[in-house]
Amino acid sequence: MDFVLKPLPYAYDALEPHISAQTIETHYEKHHRGYVEKLEKMLAGEPLAGRSLEHLIREASGPVYDNAAQIWNHDLYWRSLCPAKDRSEKPKHGLLSVRIDGAFGSSEALSWRLAAAAEHLFGSGYVWLFWRPSVERLEVAGLPDADNPLRSGDVPLLCIDIWEHAYYLDRRNRRDQYTDAVIRNLLDWDAAEQRLRAAL
Ligand code: FE
Repeated sequence: MDFVLKPLPYAYDALEPHISAQTIETHYEKHHRGYVEKLEKMLAGEPLAGRSLEHLIREASGPVYDNAAQIWNHDLYWRSLCPAKDRSEKPKHGLLSVRIDGAFGSSEALSWRLAAAAEHLFGSGYVWLFWRPSVERLEVAGLPDADNPLRSGDVPLLCIDIWEHAYYLDRRNRRDQYTDAVIRNLLDWDAAEQRLRAAL
């Protein structure tokens, strides 16, 4: 059973000035932890409690799906970001950069696509960069609520949480400022490259 709150891979203040320590602490300790506790409570004594989060995302529905997906999504979100000092500013030349150029034209064009997906997503959700094995291509999509590309057989490489709790303390209603700051300064391209390699 992996309904555990995985450790945050950096300190609360590691993503400043782009995301404040207060936002990270509240997001992780209240929201992410809350999904873990809700799912544990919901599945106590149930056969599904022994299944993986991935299984629940693919097979469950309603609140079990929502909470399982939210745990998985946050685990990936924390690992989609990294402190600016540790990060490659752009995808290094390699498998990911070749696939980005093939699908979008350039890493700059991918940044615009990610920002546009965030802008056009009505309400809460995530922006995803994922590998679609059926067409052997990278894709970008904004998906509502907890929805996750695993459900359609795709392989998530990066996600950006654009629920209000991800930015409201820092940016109030300016979702665009938050998504721009994340896309320009925090996305962990090396981690996305590793996930793509594992998927191929
Ligand atoms: Fe969140």
